[in-house]
Amino acid sequence: MLDVQKIRKDFPILNRKVNGKPLIYFDNAATSQTPQQVIDVIVDYYSNYNANIHRGVHALSQEATDAYEQARHKIQKHFNAKHPHEIIYTSGTTDSINLVASGFSTLLKKGDEVIVSALEHHSNIVPWQMLCERSGASLKVLPMNNDGELVISELDTLLTENTKLVFVNHISNALGTINPIETIIEKAHAVGAAVLVDGAQSCPHIKPDVQALDVDFYVCSAHKICGPTGVGMLYGKEEWLKKLPPYQGGGEMIAEVSFEKTTYADLPHKFEAGTPNICGGIAFGAALDYMNAIGFDAIAAYENELLEYATEKLLQIEGLKIYGTAENKTSVISFNIGNIHPYDIGTILDKMGIAVRTGHHCAQPIMDFFKIPGTIRASFMFYNTKEEIDTFISGLKKAVMMLS
Ligand code: PLP
Repeated sequence: MLDVQKIRKDFPILNRKVNGKPLIYFDNAATSQTPQQVIDVIVDYYSNYNANIHRGVHALSQEATDAYEQARHKIQKHFNAKHPHEIIYTSGTTDSINLVASGFSTLLKKGDEVIVSALEHHSNIVPWQMLCERSGASLKVLPMNNDGELVISELDTLLTENTKLVFVNHISNALGTINPIETIIEKAHAVGAAVLVDGAQSCPHIKPDVQALDVDFYVCSAHKICGPTGVGMLYGKEEWLKKLPPYQGGGEMIAEVSFEKTTYADLPHKFEAGTPNICGGIAFGAALDYMNAIGFDAIAAYENELLEYATEKLLQIEGLKIYGTAENKTSVISFNIGNIHPYDIGTILDKMGIAVRTGHHCAQPIMDFFKIPGTIRASFMFYNTKEEIDTFISGLKKAVMMLS
């Protein structure tokens, strides 16, 4: 059981008012809020040991290096990677995916195939389309059904000996569907294809074990997990990270530089050119500490309760349709009410201090599938409450009355 009232005290932003009303923050799938414990780590870094890492002999540089590398170990432990050097710091999920896509453009050729799921965020579509343009490989799509679930049986037809890569999100940001990544990984590996799992939406709710999953690449952003923006990670199996060429050239990623020939640093530095987001990396580690202290089983159970409670209440509103009705889903609810434009409802809710997201959620193919321009998306974290859901439901009813 979570002590939600105690947890809420960790989040200073939850005390603020918006438009004169207490903030109700239901836009967690876009960015989660930051607890004081993580804010303190950020303030401590800039107050006490802000310095560039890895090359300095002075105390501040060594302290910053130690904290940054300790955070990498925390991330390794959290995801159960075999080695710390399999964790590459990036600026977030999008950056991690682009790193892998850029590397694969040297490994793929005409005739090769890659498979993307129909449920992806644009971040897990566009870099692969660009990869296909560069390499001549072709892109196939694993379809979805009306419940917003992947049609896994189609995978057997799509996978061939030419398939080199499959990329899929663990949880859909637009619908909340939890995808059967274990089955996808097993089937892809059976034809020799590598799998990248976009964990941007799963990491706030689930603790993935990359070794048990046997996944080749797993990516996420710290800002969805109570950490800061501008930092994230790429987990890659050592064998793959050794095979992929560096993403960017510059300082930190080299072993020796001369005008005749440059050699590259070992993992993980080969992929970490330039001064990284040092404070962000350290705070990412602190955010994982914070979430782990609460416990992911307790988080998932509580968020599931919020999901069920909100779903039941929402369905009592006349004309309300939920998109994404998979049995296996997380605390994200996408919906529309009659013909009312999602943006209009979102704007009225904002006047009441309620933050939801409206639009296509960077998943236009999903909106096209349902033939809608967008949805209203309410997404819950462990610091939200049933009382907030009640206020949201009555706010929605008022908005509908105003707009009908
Ligand atoms: N993939 C999914 C499933 C997401 O939900 C998001 C962000 O919402 C991204 C990728 C992109 O994450 P970022 O903007 O942190 O790179």
